[in-house]
Amino acid sequence: MDSKTVDTDLIIAGGGLAGATLALALARLVPELKVTVVESFPLSPEAPPEDYQPSYDSRSTALAWGSRLIFEQLGLWQRLSEHATPIRHIHVSDRGRFGATRLHAEEHGQDALGYVADNRWMGLCLMRALGDTGVRWQAPAAVTGMQPLAGGVKVAIDQEGEHRELTARCLVVADGGRSGLREKLGFVPRTEPYGQNALIANVSTSNSHQFTAYERFTESGPMALLPHGAPGQAGHQSALVWTLSDDRLDHVLAMSDEEKCQALQDRFGWRLGRFTRIGQCHHYPLKLTTVDEPVRPGVALVGNAAHALHPVAGQGFNLALRGLMALVEQFRRAVDDDIAIGDLAVLGRYQQRHRQDWRQTVQFSDSLIRIFGQSLAPVAVARDAGLVGLDLLPGAKRRFAHQAMGTGGRKILAGVDSPVTGTKHDDW
Ligand SMILES: Cc1cc2nc3c(=O)[nH]c(=O)nc-3n(C[C@H](O)[C@H](O)[C@H](O)COP(=O)(O)OP(=O)(O)OC[C@H]3O[C@@H](n4cnc5c(N)ncnc54)[C@H](O)[C@@H]3O)c2cc1C
Repeated sequence: MDSKTVDTDLIIAGGGLAGATLALALARLVPELKVTVVESFPLSPEAPPEDYQPSYDSRSTALAWGSRLIFEQLGLWQRLSEHATPIRHIHVSDRGRFGATRLHAEEHGQDALGYVADNRWMGLCLMRALGDTGVRWQAPAAVTGMQPLAGGVKVAIDQEGEHRELTARCLVVADGGRSGLREKLGFVPRTEPYGQNALIANVSTSNSHQFTAYERFTESGPMALLPHGAPGQAGHQSALVWTLSDDRLDHVLAMSDEEKCQALQDRFGWRLGRFTRIGQCHHYPLKLTTVDEPVRPGVALVGNAAHALHPVAGQGFNLALRGLMALVEQFRRAVDDDIAIGDLAVLGRYQQRHRQDWRQTVQFSDSLIRIFGQSLAPVAVARDAGLVGLDLLPGAKRRFAHQAMGTGGRKILAGVDSPVTGTKHDDW
């Protein structure tokens, strides 16, 4: 396909956190590419919501320090940070046992180990930033299929009942993995259910969070409380991720708010004082989904379409961001070298570059859940030893901290710098 016959260079199926961030990164770092985002939800950069209303019930994401650096590179961090609560300390503990480990930002010479941002706020910042770029947006519309062509792809789109086709050099699937598109395109996801659900809510406590994120492992599953709601001062709100079995979830959902606060108190203890309020609860079944081969000629998977992790370790979107930058790096290189962006060699290098980080992060978050989800006595003793050991051994603790901060994989930022600073590709 030559540039006269192709409708657009790249189609991104899905304009959620991953798809929208990819579109922005391309607009900033590979502006030569014409990018079209197809999003099934009726949200668009041309008409973003007027205001950000920090709702008591909105979902939030723990952004690692490495993700802050990526957003800085994309010129979005200043805006995002207006409503991002810093995580200055991480406290990991095991209910009813003595092991605990603590990480402190100052030990790593940083202001924060990470940040907590509302998904709604991130979406709004992304939409506003995209509004000033040449990225085209089709919404509400859904990608329903793809056909390979010589040097490109033909993408089938349903837009308000009408069937359309767009040609492009490459399709990136960022649909979150729930629309069935990746299976339709022949990708084979591997899914391992955890047999648990994540219950999400915002909570208020009588003590201030002091910018501390708590990860607490209990015999019925892990729980995380992330500091939330006040970038400038240590507030009393935290974002809760509580893992529960199916039975237990039904039981908790049937409780009054007072009973939920009491159940939380029993599980979590008193480190944040009394739980005084709980917002609306949302819940998600938990599974580990990975796709071993996330690329084909002309098509690549990113974000949750490529990997969905247990949320308690707060790694999913952070890993996705690093993957997006690895892909952008390869698109930049292809454009510079005049190679088709959908070429399997280009997409294969993205997979190769991201693979080690991907494996390490999946293993980190999965082993946290599996080791700390066990109630068998020998395992419990071993994990106590692990937590204590982590606290005492600077090397082990540093590795844990680097993973939590999103700086544990390969040099994630070198590639982001390169298009701007002109670093040689081989150094990436
Ligand atoms: C409870 C919970 C807590 C989490 N907490 C954290 C955390 O603290 N830190 C962290 O790093 N990660 C966290 N994650 C993971 C993080 O939320 C995901 O990694 C991230 O949302 C994935 O974004 P995505 O864009 O890939 O998918 P999605 O957010 O699912 O977006 C997919 C988009 O594609 C659109 N779409 C779907 N099908 C089609 C189609 N056929 N055509 C066009 N558009 C389509 C959808 O409308 C949607 O907008 C958490 C996840 C959960 C469930």
